[in-house]
Amino acid sequence: MIQGIGASSGIAIGKAFVLPNWEWDLPEQKIDVGDLAREFDRLYEGIRTSKVEIEQMKDELREVVGAEESYIFDAHLAILDDPVFMNEIQGIIQRQYKAAEVAVKEAIDHFVTMFDLLDDEYMKERALDIKDVGNRLLKHLLGAPEITLPSDTQPFILIAKELSPSQLAHLNPSHVLGIATLAGSTTSHSSIMARALGVPLVVGIESKLEEAIQTGDMLIIDGELGVVHLHPEQSLVDLYTSKQIMYGEKKQRLKGIVSVKPVTQDGKEMELSANISSLKELDVALSSGTNGVGLFRTEFLYMDRSRLPQEEEQFEVYRTVAEKLGSKPLIIRTLDIGGDKHLDYFELPEEDNPFLGYRAIRICLDKTDLFKTQLRAILRASHYGNVKIMYPLISSVDEVQAANALLEQCKQELRTEGLPFADKVEVGIMIELPAAVLIADLLADEVDFFSIGTNDLIQFTLAVDRMNEQISHMYEPYHPSVLRMIKLTVEAAKHKGIHVGVCGEMAGDLKALPIWLALDIDELSMSAHSILPVKERLLTLKQQESRDLFNSLLSCRTSSQIHEKLRAVQGEQPAADFPAVSKSS
Ligand code: PEP
Ligand code: MG
Repeated sequence: MIQGIGASSGIAIGKAFVLPNWEWDLPEQKIDVGDLAREFDRLYEGIRTSKVEIEQMKDELREVVGAEESYIFDAHLAILDDPVFMNEIQGIIQRQYKAAEVAVKEAIDHFVTMFDLLDDEYMKERALDIKDVGNRLLKHLLGAPEITLPSDTQPFILIAKELSPSQLAHLNPSHVLGIATLAGSTTSHSSIMARALGVPLVVGIESKLEEAIQTGDMLIIDGELGVVHLHPEQSLVDLYTSKQIMYGEKKQRLKGIVSVKPVTQDGKEMELSANISSLKELDVALSSGTNGVGLFRTEFLYMDRSRLPQEEEQFEVYRTVAEKLGSKPLIIRTLDIGGDKHLDYFELPEEDNPFLGYRAIRICLDKTDLFKTQLRAILRASHYGNVKIMYPLISSVDEVQAANALLEQCKQELRTEGLPFADKVEVGIMIELPAAVLIADLLADEVDFFSIGTNDLIQFTLAVDRMNEQISHMYEPYHPSVLRMIKLTVEAAKHKGIHVGVCGEMAGDLKALPIWLALDIDELSMSAHSILPVKERLLTLKQQESRDLFNSLLSCRTSSQIHEKLRAVQGEQPAADFPAVSKSS
């Protein structure tokens, strides 16, 4: 068994197809001064052809996975327009008299090495993008054929060193049972696309695997556990085949409760909503009978592009989501960049502690034009559905008041311009900082609702970086302090009579469900895939029993005691899938 990281869930059983590397070794090739113009012409022609090809892929992909994932290729197009990348290539041709393909290869190597040196997942992903685009350009300069996957054979499991978004775009999901790559992370573009395509994916498998696996070898890929089995015994194939069948049966069973009301046995109804960051996820949420969208992470609109999205572009997306949801609530969270979320074109300062730094609402209150563009787009979309606004990373009453003052300005502007928006757009905040918890009573006077962001609240309560693998064992959702933080927040909200929900990953953790019931939480917002499993469990629970359990949790002195008590209760429940509480968004 080879351990990797599960990046897209599901099970694949089948034969391997090992993808040859899409890379070329080029001999050092000098040119004469008189050939410079020709080399530049070849370079520009290569860029033109590459752009046409990328545009085509973008169109094809839009058909398969929707417009938002196809934006990935905007990042590739932006690289071909990037003056730094292009100057590097042109400089090598002009100053070192090297052929266009050699210059491109050297420029790719230069940037990839530079980005790889940075110990930053995001930059490593950008290195992959540069390699992908650069190799496409090289392919045209060399006149090399595209590496295509077998389409006339049996469906296969794809093994690759790394898989670029453009290679993935060429995949026919009906031919690819699953994928395993040596490189990659769960947040890479390719992983996002694999999830959208519903293809099981394991990334980060050990390098020795590449030599070990040959095309035609029998494999099992478990995208949930992140493992690959090479030459599995028949007994393991049988086991996984039955797991696959159970997976299918469970899906069917859950389909049966899509329109069942999410209510406990003693009558407590809970709003089960979805966290989304794309339209594709909205479709999954709607087909799971979602109450609405409890968290629309708008960052995706700002990522993988070369400039800030304009008001009109944002408005179109928000309006589409609002219209698709009809009267169901749509909570749009304003831009939450910084920390681990970067924008290529928006320079953030070098910081020692980016998670405690210039980010989210802090940027928005500083760059008010950027913020107002988004607020105007959201307000305009409010005319077309049940839209609410939510500010992230709030730490003080002043921040809420400053944000609301800008919102008021936007409303005035829209009135003057005669652009319609809903009269009463509810405004809420994320409670994800201990400071916000401790002044929750004051904050509740300023807003219509709270949504507890447990992902960050855990990180900041425990002072444990949610991205740091070395201390990941300390990232403990069931720490007594975290339960107290949550309790304080809910009590303040209840006391002031405002709506309170949870939108961190803990909301979708079946184990936490009695806690939410005991506290009488109004809404749980989670990954769309968790809605039905959570509902299934909810239907079996009683609020009163949850209250008794929660009281006993409050007397626990350690997180292991809390886990033990929750496990004991869980043991009494029917078997279900337990989505792990993850640290990242
Ligand atoms: C959270 O912090 O719990 C949250 C939902 O926001 P994000 O994961 O996007 O930081
Ligand atoms: Mg957060």
